Amino acid sequence: MTAAPLVPGPVTVRVPAKVNLELLVGPCRSDGYHSLATVYQAVGLYDDITVAAADDFGVSVGGPLADGVPTDDDNIALRAARLLADRHEGSPVHVSIRKGIPVAGGMAGGSADAAGTLVALDHLWGLDLVREEIEEIGSELGSDVPFLVAGGTAMGSGRGERLAPVLARGTYHWVLALADGGLPTPEVYAECDRLRGAHDVPEPVATPTLMAALRTGDPHELATQLTNDLQEAAVSLRPDLGETLAAGMEYGALGGIVSGSGPTCAFLVETTEAGIDLAVALTASGVAADVRRASGPVHGAHVIHHRVD
Ligand code: ATP
Repeated sequence: MTAAPLVPGPVTVRVPAKVNLELLVGPCRSDGYHSLATVYQAVGLYDDITVAAADDFGVSVGGPLADGVPTDDDNIALRAARLLADRHEGSPVHVSIRKGIPVAGGMAGGSADAAGTLVALDHLWGLDLVREEIEEIGSELGSDVPFLVAGGTAMGSGRGERLAPVLARGTYHWVLALADGGLPTPEVYAECDRLRGAHDVPEPVATPTLMAALRTGDPHELATQLTNDLQEAAVSLRPDLGETLAAGMEYGALGGIVSGSGPTCAFLVETTEAGIDLAVALTASGVAADVRRASGPVHGAHVIHHRVD
């Protein structure tokens, strides 16, 4: 009796969220994007992406934070699947997303799903692409996608898609204050431009003191270096974020910033125990819709399950 051929079964990839330790926003470019100098850190809030062969391309979304995620062709994970299929003659797949990353929260959840889908399909279809090729394709889908493939801590330039490694020691503990509703990223950039008015904005350059702080592994050092040029704009659109930031500092955070374009606020704490205390205090105070703890840096998109039938 001959054995039935092995059929590649569903592949599941786990992909983290990001915080920007530094987000410096330069002038608006002719293509409509702003030039950025940013330092990303991947943190342990995750979406799980499962891809499986199907009769047609499709996407479904579940998990604790699924509200507000499109399940049609607007879903960036589905766009990622179609793009990779076009490039590599892949057949239709269904993408299932389990959302644990806040939607429109400034933590790059959509980009994470695109990154996870590319890594999962590379595995399902046996493409064996090198990571740089996956990042290259990812950059066509969104500026943060290459970083969610890479993970760890990295510097991003261009519109954030050009990555360079950063030497970071230690593990950092974060408390994330989630807000009700999201903030559309384009609106936050528009508000940033409005607040800046006619001032000339220089090309942004990552700060050497932040790099030095990351080499020490000391959260106190890093806390003094957290910077986000979009914070003022995010707080201008959502004044409640000012209260959230003040509460986090009052309850013992070493530092706090709006994450990316917001509205999630990220607080750096010294230890896991300090993170539990701050999470409890923020929850009790009612300033945040929800509170999560996560540490970083963590790995980028990685396969956690592959069934072979
Ligand atoms: P960033 O930090 O990269 O600016 P974000 O974290 O603020 O992004 P996302 O969660 O990526 O925001 O979602 C932005 C919008 O993208 C959502 O409001 C939603 O309409 C759309 N979207 C498309 N696909 C997805 C997806 N797979 N997950 C979440 N949102 C998605």
